[in-house]
Amino acid sequence: MTRLDELLQQEAFTDADIVRLLGLTEPDDCERLRRTAYDLTTRFIGDKVHYRGIVEFSNRCTLNCRYCGIRRDNRDLERYDLNREQIIESAIWAAENHYGSVCLQAGERRDESFVAFVEDCIREIRAGTVSEHLPEGASITLSLGAQSSETYQRWREAGGEAECMRYLLRMETSNPALFSRLHPHDFAHEKAYASRIRALENLRAAGFQVGTGGMIGLPGQTLSDLCADIRFYQRLDVDMLGMGPYILSRGGDMRDEGMLDPGPLLQLALNMLAVCRLVLRDVNIAAATALQVLAEDGREQGIAHGANILMPNITPRAVRRRYQLYDDKPCIDEEPTDCRACLAGRIQRMGRRVGWNEWGCSRHFHRRMRRPGGTVPVPRREAPSALAGIPIQLGSVRATSVSDLGAPQYRRLQK
Ligand code: SF4
Repeated sequence: MTRLDELLQQEAFTDADIVRLLGLTEPDDCERLRRTAYDLTTRFIGDKVHYRGIVEFSNRCTLNCRYCGIRRDNRDLERYDLNREQIIESAIWAAENHYGSVCLQAGERRDESFVAFVEDCIREIRAGTVSEHLPEGASITLSLGAQSSETYQRWREAGGEAECMRYLLRMETSNPALFSRLHPHDFAHEKAYASRIRALENLRAAGFQVGTGGMIGLPGQTLSDLCADIRFYQRLDVDMLGMGPYILSRGGDMRDEGMLDPGPLLQLALNMLAVCRLVLRDVNIAAATALQVLAEDGREQGIAHGANILMPNITPRAVRRRYQLYDDKPCIDEEPTDCRACLAGRIQRMGRRVGWNEWGCSRHFHRRMRRPGGTVPVPRREAPSALAGIPIQLGSVRATSVSDLGAPQYRRLQK
């Protein structure tokens, strides 16, 4: 047995182990990591992949994250809002097509009319998706940013039982310095690192299954930052993860900082998925649609590396093109029916089955709720890993930053 094989059999990992695994580049090594993550997924989750039909119901946002194509200051974007009927209709379509779960996503707004609108949609979806094959209706994931604890409570209660309500609130990075570079200072009061963590605590207190995640391959990010992200997810005792490769957006404000080339970026993102599975074991992990920007079969590769959730886009095609957080988003010209047929075949080819008519709750959530007290406090972020900032050997490349990985392939995209 090689040292890598021994490492992959471990049940606990040091920061140095995690950094080493994240930085694998030799095809044989990457395949060993992939295989281990896939087998652990089978062991801890099973062989089913669950869908969350995603409805991107508005591209209006009050915030201005520098990496984002629908940020507030992007004036070149035609804004849209789906009305209540369109949202409910999309959710009912998902349920009739045997998706057990839908996801509502939009830009971040905190005004009362928005909060009440979402509350209303949650109630309608829960009631409107009840059927013979889904007797308790569809479960719902919300991805609507940081809100007050009262708002979280209202939305959670609108969904009825706690088990069917999930919330994804991404941190994007657990490194406070990098976080502040991604968000303009004049908006710091609206999207501050500390308030994001508080929002995650409030979600947990409101009873949601809580998910977070980050971007992989950000300019200036290091492998030890990614390791710190995994430690952050561990300390948060997260139920779900939604992570994706950083893809540059022409509507964003980071065009001059470039992005990694697709090959190294895809491998890094897949390594991150696999290592999260090794460390976090029974959490739900989504194969981000952004992986498909890097390779036609990117999402399937995500499934092969330990992901167990897919989020087919069921937003009406007429507005889909206007919800691009990053460039070259796939599937924007397909109808939901196209996505359904195309994805199911792809999943089967990965040796997995679709969990039709099932909520696909996080196993970790169930395990957590069986513990005394059910909920656990979110610990404060510890000091960054002792490895942070130390040059990292990645294959034959010595890198202090993820941006170094692609050198000399690393390119700067021009406006
Ligand atoms: S990432 Fe989210 S909160 Fe930030 S600008 Fe984009 S939609 Fe708004």
